[in-house]
Amino acid sequence: MTASGFLFFTFLNSPRADRTFGCQMNINDSQKMAGMLKSMGYEPTSDWQEADVILVNTCSVREKPDQKVLSALGEFKKVKNKNPDAVIGVCGCLAQRAGYEILQKAPFIDMVFGTTNIHHLPKLLEEAQAGNKAVEIIEEIDENETELDKYPTIRDNKYTAYVTIIRGCDKNCTYCIVPITRGKERSRRIGEIIQEVQYLVEDGVKEIHLIGQNVTAYGKDLGDVKFWELLYAVANVEGVERIRFTTGHPRDLTEDIIKAMADIPQVCEALHLPIQAGSDKILEAMDRGYTQKEYLEKIELLKKYMPDIALSTDIIVGFPGETYEDYLETVKVVKEVEYDQIFAFKYSPRPGTPAEKLPMTEDPKTLSKWLNDLINMQKDIAFKKNLAYEGKIVEVLVEEEKDGKLVGRTRTNKLVHFEGEHNLLGEIVNVEITKANRFSLEGKLAQVIA
Ligand code: SF4
Repeated sequence: MTASGFLFFTFLNSPRADRTFGCQMNINDSQKMAGMLKSMGYEPTSDWQEADVILVNTCSVREKPDQKVLSALGEFKKVKNKNPDAVIGVCGCLAQRAGYEILQKAPFIDMVFGTTNIHHLPKLLEEAQAGNKAVEIIEEIDENETELDKYPTIRDNKYTAYVTIIRGCDKNCTYCIVPITRGKERSRRIGEIIQEVQYLVEDGVKEIHLIGQNVTAYGKDLGDVKFWELLYAVANVEGVERIRFTTGHPRDLTEDIIKAMADIPQVCEALHLPIQAGSDKILEAMDRGYTQKEYLEKIELLKKYMPDIALSTDIIVGFPGETYEDYLETVKVVKEVEYDQIFAFKYSPRPGTPAEKLPMTEDPKTLSKWLNDLINMQKDIAFKKNLAYEGKIVEVLVEEEKDGKLVGRTRTNKLVHFEGEHNLLGEIVNVEITKANRFSLEGKLAQVIA
């Protein structure tokens, strides 16, 4: 079969049909798989009717993404009926956790593989195209998994790129499925990461976004390497203009890392530091390994070294045993820290996690009210933070053109819309902020930074 089209798939009738479910790690895996397919001669297509390979990269962090995929299986059947030659493959965290269940529910699926053997895609595709079921869901970590990193990434954005630096997680937060679906921590060697960063800079990238479930644990399994050393090494690559990283763990966020953030000019003043809950009782039940006080001390340290740092966090509302008083501890932290953004969700029991069997202690309606109250309170905080940008001149990396305007991000990760010439794409410019909105800023070009 001559190589032709491939796409990543969610829903037939969704405007975001060719997208990936889940986190930055999944998006980067999809970008790498796209690079792999391209090197085999396939081209991306957005038309599932003409695609030869259709991949569904799944997430399993909460029940909802699971249900979304499982309920979409019927859609894939329609695809298979209309495009019987297409190979349909399911991968990602849900495939790693429940791949055989997916096959039972959807026997027409041709290929299922997990999160640790993505680099086997070429072999699995060949098997599926030969008419065999290509199923490979392995628990053990394949030492060759970093072969995946040798492939170029097919990215939506020309000027910014994710770079996976560590896979898996050794923490065991009692609600979290990641250690089950992604395995133990495996840091990539610094040399490999720097090689990928050099390749990306040659490919026009200005902003490197280092990613992992817990980047602040980078190097622990390599023995002698520290995350902050990696930050300096990436900053020393000529052409790297900005560095971001996601996700840190409060327990592993050391003063050395914070000092390096403040010292390295390319490191942007923005950090995602999940707290998950405010109450010490719940933090202990989650096995997060820090108290509210210890978390707030890290925030204070961050603000001491970088007073204008933009902070975001993850919050779970309604973990089993959480009372209204416990919830108010979360509210208290959100008010005190004044995050620029929070990602808050109701607790979702995950199969195989230590907390799975814990009885729920609040009814779903009450938890929805707590969650909505928290989100509404945060909307006001975020808007107040954005209003403080009005009249200020900020640095913006121009990433795209949209609706006749240029769009880019500040170092503090704020989205800015402003008028400017097409040739400013990929440039870092100064923009004077003229108007703050709830989720973005508007401005006018102040000056092009050479
Ligand atoms: S640190 Fe905790 S929440 Fe984050 S990926 Fe690891 S186990 Fe999950």
